[in-house]
Amino acid sequence: DIRSFVPPNNCLDGKTILVTGAGDGIGRVAALTYARYGATVLLLGRTSSKLEYVYDEIESFGGKQPAMLPMNLEGATYAEMQQLEGLIHKEVGQLDGILHNAGMLGQLTPLEMYDVDTFAQVMKVNFTATFMLTQALLPLLKDAANGSIVFTSSTVGTHPRAFWGAYALSKQAVEGMSDIFTQETQNTTNLRFNCVNPGGTRTNMRAHAYPGENPMSLKTPEDIMAGYVCLMSNESIGVRGQVVELQPKD
Ligand code: NDP
Repeated sequence: DIRSFVPPNNCLDGKTILVTGAGDGIGRVAALTYARYGATVLLLGRTSSKLEYVYDEIESFGGKQPAMLPMNLEGATYAEMQQLEGLIHKEVGQLDGILHNAGMLGQLTPLEMYDVDTFAQVMKVNFTATFMLTQALLPLLKDAANGSIVFTSSTVGTHPRAFWGAYALSKQAVEGMSDIFTQETQNTTNLRFNCVNPGGTRTNMRAHAYPGENPMSLKTPEDIMAGYVCLMSNESIGVRGQVVELQPKD
């Protein structure tokens, strides 16, 4: 069971893992955790100062030297993502996993009222940029012995819910993309594609979505890391096309 997995020490040794949205929330903790288990972590995010802080934390506990990749997924072009592929190829030489974690909430409002520019922005960051980055980095990932791509969904990505608008639709599209990639690659490569649903977790995004909730009632990102590590480690070889729920349904 992925939720109760106890990651063996150094189970990510020798792996290079890119984490998007690595400066804050769940992505920050995932980046630190992957480094603790021996991975070289590539920190992608839009706020350089936050990435620098995570970089320093990894250095301070003696993790492998990470790399910072500042990128705003909202405006990022495919050419920039291909340049990134070239840079990783040249400077690091390998890529074993991507945690697509960056995301934005957008508005919580009926579709009838949803601001169309915000709609496009949420779809770009949560879905389209995720697709573009995956495609651009596929040449590197296909060379990995056991590559793992982890997308981040949400309960409203599996079951659409009123007022969740572009966020729910973007996560539905992410789940569909993971399914299609799985079908298209299962006979040709060892690469595996899965989604993770973290469940309600104590972060800024959750506080914006549920302003009346007591944050102390929620799991922290640290509490749910076993699943994130498992999906990147060789322990999950053979797990494909799943939506892995890291907490019992709320
Ligand atoms: P946070 O808002 O705390 O963190 C989101 C991260 O994504 C930040 O590091 C942020 O960067 C980054 N990001 C946002 N927009 C962009 C962009 N345009 N380009 C690059 N990076 C960007 O959210 P969480 O940690 O809560 O969420 C992480 C993932 O988990 C998301 O995909 C979310 O949808 C999903 N999720 C979270 C749940 C929860 O309860 N927390 C529940 C279900 C799913 P910056 O800090 O610079 O703004």
